[in-house]
Amino acid sequence: MIGEQYQVTSTRRHHSLCSLTDNSEVGPEDEEAGVLLPPTPLQKLTTDLCKDNKTIKDLIIGRRVGFYKVRGEIGYGTFSRVKMAFHALTKDKVALKILDRTRLDSQAQRLLAKEISSMESLHHPNVVCLYEVMETPSRLFLVLEYAGGGDLHNRICTEGKLSDNTGKITFAQILSAITYMHNINIIHRDLKAENVLFTTGGCVKVADFGFSTQISNQSDSLDTFCGSPPYAAPELFRDECYLGPPVDVWAMGVLLFFMVTGTMPFRADTMGKLRRCVIEGAYTVPPWVPGPCQRLIKGILKVVPTERCAIDQMLGCDWLLSVEFPWSLVPPEPMSPLQSLLDSERGGVDVEVEKEVRSSLEELGFTTEHLHNNQPKHSRSPVTGVYRILLHRAQKRRGCDCPPVVRGMVKDPKREGLRAYRGLRHTSKLCVLS
Ligand code: ATP
Repeated sequence: MIGEQYQVTSTRRHHSLCSLTDNSEVGPEDEEAGVLLPPTPLQKLTTDLCKDNKTIKDLIIGRRVGFYKVRGEIGYGTFSRVKMAFHALTKDKVALKILDRTRLDSQAQRLLAKEISSMESLHHPNVVCLYEVMETPSRLFLVLEYAGGGDLHNRICTEGKLSDNTGKITFAQILSAITYMHNINIIHRDLKAENVLFTTGGCVKVADFGFSTQISNQSDSLDTFCGSPPYAAPELFRDECYLGPPVDVWAMGVLLFFMVTGTMPFRADTMGKLRRCVIEGAYTVPPWVPGPCQRLIKGILKVVPTERCAIDQMLGCDWLLSVEFPWSLVPPEPMSPLQSLLDSERGGVDVEVEKEVRSSLEELGFTTEHLHNNQPKHSRSPVTGVYRILLHRAQKRRGCDCPPVVRGMVKDPKREGLRAYRGLRHTSKLCVLS
């Protein structure tokens, strides 16, 4: 059965993959020297995908998908299987989320389209990166950055609550990701410990944008109940229209409580009791939780959304003063689009990074023509996949995937408070007065 599905698929895909290169098995002729150049890695791969029996068999049985060699299972979701895979050219490890399209009803399809569209706009060191999307008549494949360090829920369930420092480092990265998302009007709506992944180097990656939504401005009201009940804000249980940002903030409060205590703030054996607990805001922070962290939890878990801590207040809170980021707590520059490689005048994110990516693409055999031809396909192009993987690799080499550190002492809390607020827009009130 699987073989049949892939047979249809592989024939179709061959066409698009073969069209990426010249249809010759050897490289192009060097016109001046009049000799044939050896094939580039891209030419060799595309030739194998079209003509090599073993490679074609691997495509048919699902051991290969597009440019990726598929390996072991990582996990399951409601509609998905996630497998580990390697890019055949760059050799980078990725997570391949595989969805059976025949099992998706119209609502699941809408959510999936939103997940892809949100992920296409998100480029942040603490958000799982979407490299590429591949489609066949029966399946959809999301090629994602691989987070090999497990998820926060498992970590706490196996190792217990996080230490104060680890809690700060982890929470600051989640906060950085959510600040960035909200600044570009994306609301996650399903923040929970299971959706907070780690790289093997300990960097946080917020994942699973299946319930995310893009709003046109922060005051847009939403009306769909999304997410996991223990993390749901009171306004969701009250069946009211709600604002997006405070709902993510509430879920961050539940997450923070879980991280530093190893227990959930709202627990009940029935949904009715849980609903009552959340609506009443009935929870108790254990007295041994450090004061600054207690104050943050209490500032976030406020039943009335307008009284709840805003993101800016969380960024400047006492508990996070000692966290030193390799990048700013406010959003870093987004990952540059493929277009910036084609248009040097536009000035990409980092000229050195772009140079490195361009030269790696050239070494693999990608020409400017490939980049131009694949431009309109966005994530649905193997060229975009390679480009994003190489770009991400270059950015990681420059430290974008390093977790923050906590400094031992904060000598002057007032000055440090100012440092934490530096660059944030809410300081502009002072400017108006002067
Ligand atoms: P549901 O769809 O029911 O909400 P889910 O969100 O866990 O479930 P998936 O996002 O498909 O479903 O994830 C399934 C499993 O794969 C999870 O255990 C998750 O930790 C793991 N996983 C998902 N994305 C990655 C990734 N980028 N790197 C490593 N593991 C991942």
